[in-house]
Amino acid sequence: MQVNPLLALQDLDDQIAKLQREIVALKGERGFLERLAQAQAQERELSLQLEKLQERQRQNNAREEELQVRAQRLHAKLYGGSVINPKELKDLQGELLETKTKQESLQEILLLGMEEEEDLTQKLTTQRQELEKLERDAKQHLAHLLRQIKRRQERIASLQTERQKARQPLEQQLLYAYDNLHKSKGGRAVAEVTNNQCSGCGAKMPEHKLNELRQNRLSFCETCGRLLALRRFFESRT
Ligand SMILES: [Zn+2]
Repeated sequence: MQVNPLLALQDLDDQIAKLQREIVALKGERGFLERLAQAQAQERELSLQLEKLQERQRQNNAREEELQVRAQRLHAKLYGGSVINPKELKDLQGELLETKTKQESLQEILLLGMEEEEDLTQKLTTQRQELEKLERDAKQHLAHLLRQIKRRQERIASLQTERQKARQPLEQQLLYAYDNLHKSKGGRAVAEVTNNQCSGCGAKMPEHKLNELRQNRLSFCETCGRLLALRRFFESRT
């Protein structure tokens, strides 16, 4: 017994189509790239926050130093003995107090900023470690995907060769019908007849159809229009 060459051709085309669908699915895998992009965006966001905070700390530090210098100057003037006018002394005292109050509140802000900076630095370190891991994983996953795709492409190439061989013994007219049906019937040009039924649409086969098939004559399903074939093939085709 030999497998019907029409079914053999259909099987090869099915295998090729399945591999092509798998390649499309593999190329469409985006999940790992999206996770990576998300982690990169988070890292950038944290970096930016830290930079802004550090800039603010630098400005506040400079401002605090200015207030420090000013307080020292006011202090020296107040207790240096050069000012004796009571009103002037009172004004100086007020100014010194105000400067020190500003300085203290700025020192509190600076302290809070330091805590925040520590916290952000920690978060950024964790995020960068996570990102490095994701980058390594993504690289590996990509290489794996490419290998999977390549394996399927190679398999398709060898199936194409087999397919050409499988087509050679078939008559032009038959191939023409096959190719047209392949296009119009979603890749299934041939329907195998099993248990007296068309496997393409489920229609029951009348006796004369079965006889045609047993005699190896070209036959189409009257319901779905596909080429019909029995798995068992009779060599004495006429
Ligand atoms: Zn049918």
